Amino acid sequence: MPETADPIPDPADLDATRGLLAAGDPERRLHPIGMRAIRIGGHALDDLPALVADLGRPGPVVILGDATTMRRGREDLKALVVERLAPSRETRRVTIGTGRPELHADEDALAEAAAAIVDAGCVVSVGSGTMTDIAKAATFATGGLPLIVVQTAVSVNAFSDDMAVLVRNGVKRTVPSRWPDALVIDLQVIAGAPPEMNRAGFGELASMFTAPADWYLAGALGMDPAWMAAPVDLFRRGGEELLVAAGAVRANEAGALALLARLMTLSGIALGVAGSTAPISGTEHIVSHLLDMDAEAAGRPLAFHGAQVGVAAIVAALAWQETLETFDPDAVDPDAFDPDPTAVEANVRAAFGRLDETGAAAEECWRDVERKLERLRSVRPAVRRFLRDWPRHKAALRSLTVDPGVLAAAVGRAGAPTRFSDLDPAVGPGLAQWALGSCHLMRNRFVLADLRALTGTWTSADVDRLLTRAASIGAGL
Ligand SMILES: [Zn+2]
Repeated sequence: MPETADPIPDPADLDATRGLLAAGDPERRLHPIGMRAIRIGGHALDDLPALVADLGRPGPVVILGDATTMRRGREDLKALVVERLAPSRETRRVTIGTGRPELHADEDALAEAAAAIVDAGCVVSVGSGTMTDIAKAATFATGGLPLIVVQTAVSVNAFSDDMAVLVRNGVKRTVPSRWPDALVIDLQVIAGAPPEMNRAGFGELASMFTAPADWYLAGALGMDPAWMAAPVDLFRRGGEELLVAAGAVRANEAGALALLARLMTLSGIALGVAGSTAPISGTEHIVSHLLDMDAEAAGRPLAFHGAQVGVAAIVAALAWQETLETFDPDAVDPDAFDPDPTAVEANVRAAFGRLDETGAAAEECWRDVERKLERLRSVRPAVRRFLRDWPRHKAALRSLTVDPGVLAAAVGRAGAPTRFSDLDPAVGPGLAQWALGSCHLMRNRFVLADLRALTGTWTSADVDRLLTRAASIGAGL
């Protein structure tokens, strides 16, 4: 674990965050933070009318939400938002996804939201990650209407970046979207969120101990030239404090929720400025996406994203530990980094062909993986350098990862699931093994599972061994 003497930045101080990023980015490669205001506090909602006055254009304020009842203290949150804004502005409250069992950020939801905001001068979205992604995508598609996001749980980091996770052809894809103009995190609202959502947020942040290592690996191998330490450092310096706060997250303590809100916001900013989700989305996130794809194909409800990420992050931490202990660069044939595309395509179709009758999901995955293979063919010199410099990379990777037992214990103390079978709905052994074993076949992102697959150490026997080790620390199946 790295030294964490540096204080966690206050994301509400956008200029300070910009300064930190600039200091670590001498070549100015990072994207600018496109948000104009962040409010985090026990009374942050009080600032909403001023933010609307500041950022909105002429026209009605459209308040977008789903059908879920949300509260701030004893009050109905959405009614309260209308009540706060109505004295100064024409307001219209719109519920997206009525009549559907579960709201997804799919084509139907986007069309509904787009129709609702045609004449809006400002959009205020009130809800969790899916609602925020719908509002971002809909306002992005209609030319960037002013958007103020009222975050209602610290469940995911979708609130403070310029991307959206949308469902296309039944496959979850993170696509470019827009930054919210303002983000409002009222801690009284957060405290009233379902506890399992905030606890899932702890699982989402567990990815800070695995994904940055995946991203570093991709950078070192030339697979992702965007790797940079500065965005990771924004949130990773809060790692120690996060692990310590686990029990307080379970108890819904105000200080712990504020910490989650800060780290979640910083991690969102990190991926926004990096221009990809890679800083905090690696193996653990792909596993979660695969579980979602399977659930959607089967018509099952989805477990909380962060809960899935937390469970998968523990297994990913184990895979990192094992790799750092056993990887032998002298035993690696650089030719292994140029696999036969026909064989990989067959693996992709074998993994995902069952998800739909048309094979569209497998096709979508193969298109992405094919690009990854193309890039692999061009990075041979970087691979050779990586193998030669393994001791240096090993030290850097070790500083980005965590002891899996420590992580499993913290996720458990936070009240988030540590096992696939603890997810709601439960994920069975076959599905968990499939998601772990297939995660390198889904998208154009190089993660640890890719290195392991290329070097022949990501077989079903390898996955089973990791799951057995996970069981010994209270995680895994
Ligand atoms: Zn996530």
